[in-house]
Amino acid sequence: MQTYEELLDAVVATDGDTVTILAPATEQPIGDAPWHDEAELEAAIARAQAAQPAWAALSSAERADYLNRAADAIEAAAEPLAQLLAREVGKPLGGANARFEVGASANWLRATAAQEVPVETLVDDGETYAELHYRPIGVVGAITPWNWPMMIATWQIAPSLRVGNTVVIKPSEYTPFSGLALAAVINQVLPEGVLNVVVGDGELGAAMTANPAFGKIMFTGSTATGTKIIESSAANITRLTMELGGNDAGIVLADADPQQVAGDIFWGAFLNTGQTCAALKRLYVHDDIYDQVVDAIAQVAKSAPMGDSLDEDSLLGPVQNKRQWKIVDTLVKLAVESGARVVVGGNPDPDATGYFYPATIVADIDPENALVVEEQFGPALPIVRYSDIEDALRWANALDVGLGASVWGSDRAEALKVAERMEAGTVWINKHGAVHPFIPFGGTKRSGYGMEFGVEGLKAVSVPQVING
Ligand code: NDP
Repeated sequence: MQTYEELLDAVVATDGDTVTILAPATEQPIGDAPWHDEAELEAAIARAQAAQPAWAALSSAERADYLNRAADAIEAAAEPLAQLLAREVGKPLGGANARFEVGASANWLRATAAQEVPVETLVDDGETYAELHYRPIGVVGAITPWNWPMMIATWQIAPSLRVGNTVVIKPSEYTPFSGLALAAVINQVLPEGVLNVVVGDGELGAAMTANPAFGKIMFTGSTATGTKIIESSAANITRLTMELGGNDAGIVLADADPQQVAGDIFWGAFLNTGQTCAALKRLYVHDDIYDQVVDAIAQVAKSAPMGDSLDEDSLLGPVQNKRQWKIVDTLVKLAVESGARVVVGGNPDPDATGYFYPATIVADIDPENALVVEEQFGPALPIVRYSDIEDALRWANALDVGLGASVWGSDRAEALKVAERMEAGTVWINKHGAVHPFIPFGGTKRSGYGMEFGVEGLKAVSVPQVING
């Protein structure tokens, strides 16, 4: 699978039910993906169950070796994988986009291989001796969204495999090729049945989450779908990790340097053209520097090239699907109708090919406006003015979600005081959205529960067992 064509050939459907996948940048077909039914889900589960005991019986070092070899395989197929990802998601090849996502997937596998959960001695006092072990759960069901389809799949697959589980993964119906291709490359090195893919829509996802064969469901997606999964898995007491929607707030303090922070704020908001779970989605800026910050961010927006995902100059791409495009368009229109000011962007070309929406900065917007309080998940950033930090904190914490948040300022001690009061699973200082394989990540409130990454992430795909005596 050294070329894009060879990779695509390995994942297009040759028989059975199929679905045609369109490239969001061109609205032209990429190819026909398989479309699986419940019988095929049952077959995938059976393969995963059959493979699991032998996989779990390997030593930790042997499984780590497999993960490292999977990373080698991804690196060997990096350019074809990036070409497919760019076409299917619409993200450009360059910048923190398709090539970056493929490289990060390989790096994440290696970083996960390098970690393990130590056995903990709980009590050793001469009378009692007790240890805490973490065992594999069995078969993990992984359900991924369309925005970072290889990266998020890796976040779910790598820790699950690391500790001795086998996996059935269902990619989003919008981006099945990315999931299929990643698995096809990884499966060049893994034993048969350890990693399995099924393709379908929410109905197939619902069939997965209600199936008692799964000891654990790893889910990344919307809060609405997360709620359904909690309900459908309840009867089986299935363990869950829920990485759900967010609406991350950023607060810019009065002592921030507008020119210095503008670039990082822009890319914190427009990473993957704004389609990132922990992107900065609403910004609160102190009145003293409001106009300078708005202007500086608008300058970055104007100079960020948006275009076809295969154009090497593009740094921003289309929205991945028309449904999400309409959400962004509706929210910007509502903001404009309310009297907010579009500083740059807005006004998408109705005759354009592809789901392009210009990078949009909206200023002088009411803190209660829909573009502020609802998740846009696309290339539009509302910037709210504040003069009292208590107002900014109240607005930032008012929503029922809390994935990430950020504070921007020159005095770290002051920024830290504000960070400690923000209700989010991660609060960044002078950056937004940075994740690291050794740093646990997860949401608060309706952004979900359970940690991914690091040793906490390995524990989350394991079952604790106490040995007493
Ligand atoms: P969805 O929740 O619509 O879909 C996520 C996955 O769940 C898809 O594979 C989807 O299948 C599947 N699914 C849909 N219905 C069900 C069901 N009833 N039972 C089981 N699975 C189901 O989210 P999107 O893909 O539209 O992604 C956008 C959302 O995800 C945003 O709100 C965003 O904030 C959030 N997100 C959160 C992240 C985080 O880490 N917290 C990261 C990325 C996104 P299908 O697509 O085929 O319908």
